[in-house]
Amino acid sequence: MAGVKQITVLGATGSIGQSSLALVRQHSERFAIHGLVAGKDFNRLAALAHEFKPKIIGIHDQTSLPALKELVSTLDCQLVAGEVACSEIAAMPVDRVIAGISGLAGLPSVMAAVSAGQTVAIANKESLVSAGAVVTREAILSGAHILPIDSEHNAVFQCWNGWKGHQSTDKTNGKMTELSHICLTASGGPFLTLPIGEFAAITPATAVRHPNWVMGHKISVDSATMMNKGLEVIEARWLFDLKPSQIDVLIHPEQAVHGLVYFCDGSIIAQMGVADMRTPISYAMAWPDRLDWKPEPLDLAAIANLTFTQVNPDRFPCFTLARHALVAGGIAPAVLNAANEVAVEAFLAGKIGFLDIVRIVDSCLSKDLVGDLTTIEAVCAIDQTAREHARKIVASR
Ligand code: MG
Repeated sequence: MAGVKQITVLGATGSIGQSSLALVRQHSERFAIHGLVAGKDFNRLAALAHEFKPKIIGIHDQTSLPALKELVSTLDCQLVAGEVACSEIAAMPVDRVIAGISGLAGLPSVMAAVSAGQTVAIANKESLVSAGAVVTREAILSGAHILPIDSEHNAVFQCWNGWKGHQSTDKTNGKMTELSHICLTASGGPFLTLPIGEFAAITPATAVRHPNWVMGHKISVDSATMMNKGLEVIEARWLFDLKPSQIDVLIHPEQAVHGLVYFCDGSIIAQMGVADMRTPISYAMAWPDRLDWKPEPLDLAAIANLTFTQVNPDRFPCFTLARHALVAGGIAPAVLNAANEVAVEAFLAGKIGFLDIVRIVDSCLSKDLVGDLTTIEAVCAIDQTAREHARKIVASR
């Protein structure tokens, strides 16, 4: 099977996992599946195992194990359950690990893959937001490559060749000085023009209806509050080793330009494409090559006008909170992420209103929680403390 890249997909039944597997399905001459990991959707995982014939599959939810075993009994495929066993799959040597689990639940497996020196195509931004210092330090020690799947970061990755060399102990290799700053674009989500007075009445059903991208529920709500872009600014800080002041954001509702890199000589290089996650995923999978997956072409004449505006902090206070958390540093981004995950889950469950999301995150950030970020265990401890505080506020609503 020389020339065929072996792939492990973490979060195989989620949105990123499905898009990745669609590319593998389309290009079986280039990719083969080594391992698949899912959270609790054992029916879907079993179906994927029958289709892609992985060597090993893992399910986080241990209670699903007997049912899953039954469904894949005719396959020559190893089967494991639980977080520890699933992280072991992430550490098994392959050409690409696709980290597609949403939320901090993805951190142990991301860390396992990074520690093993793998090339990790990462969509799990929460790992970098909460544990960016630990994950990137570990990557330098192990020689792991972290390739961004998040479309804006993938755009910067495509535009900035010098970045490729920077993930080494010798930072002078990385041409860091050629860069002035970067810009991540934002669609503005479904409520870009909704009168601010109507925000209190926003329901989960309207919040998950994103105008450009088809995504999971958590990230769709994060896009509606623009917390997603705030998390992405923090993600960019760690991925590209930049100062907060070097990371700009512009609202660009047409979503044709995904990211821009401003160089020291006045040149700006931008990446454009249709809003389809398969473009950034395919680049992270095929890098340093490109995959001809027959995407829909971007019709610039049909779009006609491209617009760019600054983020309005009154409309998107979550974005401002995230920026403040990045500048504050320390545990603030981990607290921000934990509080946001709890708040978004409560909002999707109908327990709190849309505007409560920012109130809960703000309250947790001003709580003066203490902790350190030297190890994954320490990150998880501060994450848990922040979650408990956020859950108390949810329960009091
Ligand atoms: Mg993104």
